[in-house]
Amino acid sequence: MSILKTENLRKYYGKEPNIVRALDGVSLEIEEGEFVAIVGTSGSGKSTLLNMMGGLDVPTDGKVIVADKELSGMDDEQLTIFRRRRIGFVFQNYNLIPMLNVYENIVLPTSLDGEIPDQSYLKKIISLLGLEERLKEMPLNLSGGQQQRVAIARALAAKPAIILADEPTGNLDSRTSQDVLGLIKMTSRQFHQTVVMITHNVEIAQLADRTIRIEDGKIRESRWNS
Ligand code: ADP
Ligand code: ADP
Repeated sequence: MSILKTENLRKYYGKEPNIVRALDGVSLEIEEGEFVAIVGTSGSGKSTLLNMMGGLDVPTDGKVIVADKELSGMDDEQLTIFRRRRIGFVFQNYNLIPMLNVYENIVLPTSLDGEIPDQSYLKKIISLLGLEERLKEMPLNLSGGQQQRVAIARALAAKPAIILADEPTGNLDSRTSQDVLGLIKMTSRQFHQTVVMITHNVEIAQLADRTIRIEDGKIRESRWNS
């Protein structure tokens, strides 16, 4: 079953004659549990596509359908709830809050939602990501790879169905990148999550089930990785 679908998605910035067609008719379908890498040169539309899928930005035209719900039919409040419950975001710069310790960073989004985190599930993700000994530390005292593990744990805390990752290994060396990607892959299998990840790194893209290449706001290639 497809969990994430776009239909003829368009996003234009500016006006003629200087209009930028960041997305120019993107139709794709992603199956539940799939791990997809999105590749393409800088400016090709990758972040715009990911932002539309996560309901962070509104398309000029076309549809985004997540678990049979069309995002354009939602108001701001519904979109906020959708993002908190369904989507886990992971960014290149980790986006951790420096004043909060590791544990506080991990549980912050769920506590904002007024929910009591599921303690046994939390324990499991903390242990899978190897963070048990780091919970009281402050993010800036950790290495990049460790900070990204914390960001992944935070993304997983609300048990989202979908993980959207924008260059999650962009600031990591190649060994740490492989480790972090292995962890995302392992947790997504464990919790039956769908992952869509932007990457510039060919070796990292190769670790996904499928690679979609976009150029000039259009899909140029979609192939299964061996
Ligand atoms: P990528 O993630 O592949 O580097 P982006 O999706 O960030 O590409 O950008 C696609 C195109 O849209 C680029 O030409 C970029 O300059 C333009 N763009 C992105 N966001 C905006 C914006 N908020 N305003 C104007 N142009 C934008
Ligand atoms: P990426 O690393 O994904 O390519 P960018 O540095 O291109 O990111 O863009 C970072 C942010 O700036 C994005 O939120 C994007 O929407 C916005 N942006 C990109 N290009 C432009 C632009 N030409 N004008 C205004 N905002 C832009």
